[in-house]
Amino acid sequence: MISGNAKVCGVIGNPVGHSLSPLMQNYFAEALGLDFIYVPCNVKNNQIEAAIQGIYALGFWGLNVTVPHKQSIMPYLKEIDQAALSIQAVNTLVRIDGGYKGYNTDAAGLYRALKGHGIEVEGQDCLLLGAGGAAKAAAYMLMEKKARSITILNRTFEKAETLAGEMNRLFGREIMTAMPLGDYEMLKKDSYLAIQTTSVGMHPQVDAVAIEDREFYKKIHTGVDIIYTPKETRFMKLVREANGRAVNGLDMLIYQGIIAFELWNPKIQISKEITDKVRQMMEEKLKG
Ligand code: NAP
Repeated sequence: MISGNAKVCGVIGNPVGHSLSPLMQNYFAEALGLDFIYVPCNVKNNQIEAAIQGIYALGFWGLNVTVPHKQSIMPYLKEIDQAALSIQAVNTLVRIDGGYKGYNTDAAGLYRALKGHGIEVEGQDCLLLGAGGAAKAAAYMLMEKKARSITILNRTFEKAETLAGEMNRLFGREIMTAMPLGDYEMLKKDSYLAIQTTSVGMHPQVDAVAIEDREFYKKIHTGVDIIYTPKETRFMKLVREANGRAVNGLDMLIYQGIIAFELWNPKIQISKEITDKVRQMMEEKLKG
């Protein structure tokens, strides 16, 4: 039961109607018997500052922030966590005295998802497909978790170059290099962990993939697509057909939400049983 003292959290985005976060966060609260409620809030792009002031005045305890507000919200926060500053995007807010502190749970969420599937990062030669917002979180995670080398392949080469330069400077190691997407034949290693972060192949363009050439997939021992609709993307299919292992982005989505829930409820840890149940619910929901 939700009482008059319930902790209120929510998600802001534009649009937010498709968000699975209300389903997930309200399920966590229900399963744990917490007095907690999570609501969707559609906020127009020119209303961010007003929204932050409004939710603070209304007593909201925390927020998730989704597209397109992950960067534009940053000037209105009281504090920003170091990882979120490095990734230049915030997806979770926690109430502090006088405002909110911003975090980014995408990098840690991706790492927990990989761990859950028994996928190691340390010492691996990695490929990062894409250099957009999600790629920044993935790049940060790969650097932090001590990948041996990271090659970023992106359609717009300059964006890959900028990201590699930023990450090498931040971590003080020259292990990230940029490559135009079309130059994949020049890759030097034979066996990569690949993280697919482009939006190519996402529903409804389910037959699309950033690199079509089957030869490329022979070099991938594990391919993680951070897209979760469809359940098996064309990228994943091509990895599997070349005898690699493939994982989709649903667990990243779930774990970034779990980490946010744990930030709002510091004494709580979400169990494996609850995680499994929420994954099942979300898979059902995505089937439509
Ligand atoms: P974004 O900032 O718009 O970046 C899109 C990326 O895709 C860029 O690297 C872009 O390359 C590339 N791209 C787009 N169209 C392309 C094409 N036709 N050919 C080659 N490359 C193309 O988007 P984002 O926020 O990073 O999100 C990317 C995907 O990740 C989305 O599908 C999103 O749903 C998913 N995602 C999943 C999670 C999760 O929790 N599982 C979290 C965040 C995002 P250019 O730089 O050349 O434009």
